[in-house]
Amino acid sequence: MMFEFLQPLKTEPLPFEYKVRISSRARHVRIKISHWGEVEVVTPKGVSQKKVSAFIHEQRAWVIESLSRLKQQHHQNLDTTLPTMVALAALDSRWQIRYEQRPAQGNLTPSSRITETDQSLLITTSSEGNPREQLRKWLHEKAKITLSPLLLEVSTALALPYGKLTIRGQKSRWGSCSQRKNINLNRNLLFLPRSLVRYLLVHELCHTVHLNHSREYWALVKSIEPNYRELERALNHGWRYVPLWAYATS
Ligand SMILES: [Zn+2]
Repeated sequence: MMFEFLQPLKTEPLPFEYKVRISSRARHVRIKISHWGEVEVVTPKGVSQKKVSAFIHEQRAWVIESLSRLKQQHHQNLDTTLPTMVALAALDSRWQIRYEQRPAQGNLTPSSRITETDQSLLITTSSEGNPREQLRKWLHEKAKITLSPLLLEVSTALALPYGKLTIRGQKSRWGSCSQRKNINLNRNLLFLPRSLVRYLLVHELCHTVHLNHSREYWALVKSIEPNYRELERALNHGWRYVPLWAYATS
């Protein structure tokens, strides 16, 4: 990948700063917003500054909205209030969360426990337990149980076999594929709409054929999913579906 930084052109002042990165792998201009609120425009080679500037102005409302949502989330993170509901769009399910405090009973009993019924989760925690950690473990298990059969299904349908599946809790990628065709998937995919999760699986499975983002790779993706550009874009914006507790470490 090639990096190059350009000074953004000034037309009308934007209420946020951004930087421009030229990537030889980029196929179209897109905006990336990091979890900490940094705005970056990634463009393919040969796109004029004027075009980039016009693009960011066009997307201005969306960027402002995303940044304010991030700010809100950070507030929530500082807030000690625990989530009262978890909705997993990929599974079309939601659970009300209840918390119960219980006194510590020595070292042998787990400090925190989660009980799941159809529509509710009961998290029992002693004073030293961390209910958010418990929720993340629950999410991890849910991802293992539900993403494995889905990946197998898509892989079989496309006749694109893979090696091993590992579920992870990464902060910045939805999935990856290794040279040995082992696939890593992010448990936070469960917060995304199912169609988007399915597409991410297609994206990773196509890497079992081309371990890069070459023209050939995208041609393969396109043959399976003609709408891939829009879906890629949606994935890049997908982090806004993820509540902070899901990847925070506190
Ligand atoms: Zn990829």
